[in-house]
Amino acid sequence: MYDVIIAGAGPAGGTAAYFLGEAGRRVLVLEKEILPRYKACGGGLSIRFLETTFPFSFESVIERDVKAITYAFGGRTVTVPLRRRSIRMVMRDRFDAHLLAQAKAEVRTGAAIRKVAELPDRVTVETNHGDALEGRYLIGADGANSVVARSAGLRRGKTLAAAIEAEAPAPPDIMRHFADGPVFIFGEIYPGYLWIFPKADHLSVGIAALHPKHGELQATLRRVMARYGISLENIPLRGHPIPIYTRREPISSARVLLAGDAAGLADPFSGEGIRLAITSGRLAAEAILAGRAERYERAVFWRIGLNHTFGLAVAALFYNLQDLCLTLGAPNPYTTEALLDLLSGRASYPAVMLRAIGTVPIYALTEGVKRTAGLLDGEPRRKRVRAAIRSVQ
Ligand SMILES: Cc1cc2nc3c(=O)[nH]c(=O)nc-3n(C[C@H](O)[C@H](O)[C@H](O)COP(=O)(O)OP(=O)(O)OC[C@H]3O[C@@H](n4cnc5c(N)ncnc54)[C@H](O)[C@@H]3O)c2cc1C
Repeated sequence: MYDVIIAGAGPAGGTAAYFLGEAGRRVLVLEKEILPRYKACGGGLSIRFLETTFPFSFESVIERDVKAITYAFGGRTVTVPLRRRSIRMVMRDRFDAHLLAQAKAEVRTGAAIRKVAELPDRVTVETNHGDALEGRYLIGADGANSVVARSAGLRRGKTLAAAIEAEAPAPPDIMRHFADGPVFIFGEIYPGYLWIFPKADHLSVGIAALHPKHGELQATLRRVMARYGISLENIPLRGHPIPIYTRREPISSARVLLAGDAAGLADPFSGEGIRLAITSGRLAAEAILAGRAERYERAVFWRIGLNHTFGLAVAALFYNLQDLCLTLGAPNPYTTEALLDLLSGRASYPAVMLRAIGTVPIYALTEGVKRTAGLLDGEPRRKRVRAAIRSVQ
């Protein structure tokens, strides 16, 4: 009898295993793939969030630091340099394996959960090898197509966005061009966006959209990447759902707790999900350690779900007024800083909206000062004024 069985060795499962193992619980992680395994994912995440969540370093699995963020929309390209090192790029095979390696847990790979049965005092789990394993609790961290959720009758009424990722080798001049940070491309698919994320030796490119037409994601990804000089010929395009949180859905029972994508916790605006998988994996571990599994669902709602509800509203507003939002928001460095705080879990959607809208006058004023300096005293003065303003911002 294990104290906790964890289905899936992604960030949600790895995090739950880490915190339960640290507390001395007997933990078994069942992962259907052989590790390290590929996961379709941009692999962009907040370094500040990692540093405040785990006491160990992720330095060995960091592919690249982000120095600037670029937005492309309506024929315009806006690059916002970042003041501090806040976002980093990882490849998920190495990242997930590194996280799991820190956990004091028994790990069985190539072991897919087929069926679960919840009893009053334990949960039994059947695997593809015909094993029947028992634990006091089961954490379903088995991703967007969670077998645990289905088998336990949880997370009904789920909504999924569709996404595609490709790992594209690129010649040195193209790698150099994208070296400083991610590019987000809007206006090519609705509602959705594309991205180009630089890794150590290649580019991770992708596209995500809600309810795309058949073949639309593949065709749009190839067309747009060709425009940026990135060829996807003979490169596998890997599809994966992104579960969107739409309301308070049942994500736990007395002894089964869903975490991460299995609970549908990807961000409804951006599709970001690693941080939310880690947060919910930790909340699941804490609820079990406190012997209060019934509190888990409420904890997830307050820490994640409530903000997701605002995120859905922001997504609806953004995609209906996309050009206006990007024209006002993208060049304004305060908006990007606010979004980075959201990604590190330090700001909520309402706070981001307030900052994005509230800083428009400051941004307009500083832009006016820069332009006036340029008009009065030429380009070098304009650049000096811009650098001075940037250091204050
Ligand atoms: C194309 C794409 C790009 C993305 N880009 C980003 C990004 O840049 N930043 C970000 O933060 N988020 C991103 N996301 C979201 C992010 O990938 C997910 O939210 C995150 O992986 C969720 O982690 P998880 O641990 O819940 O699930 P997963 O990472 O999916 O892990 C689930 C694990 O469970 C295993 N499993 C599945 N079924 C079983 C079973 N029956 N038995 C045992 N094991 C099983 C799987 O093999 C897998 O290892 C992206 C998603 C997609 C699709």
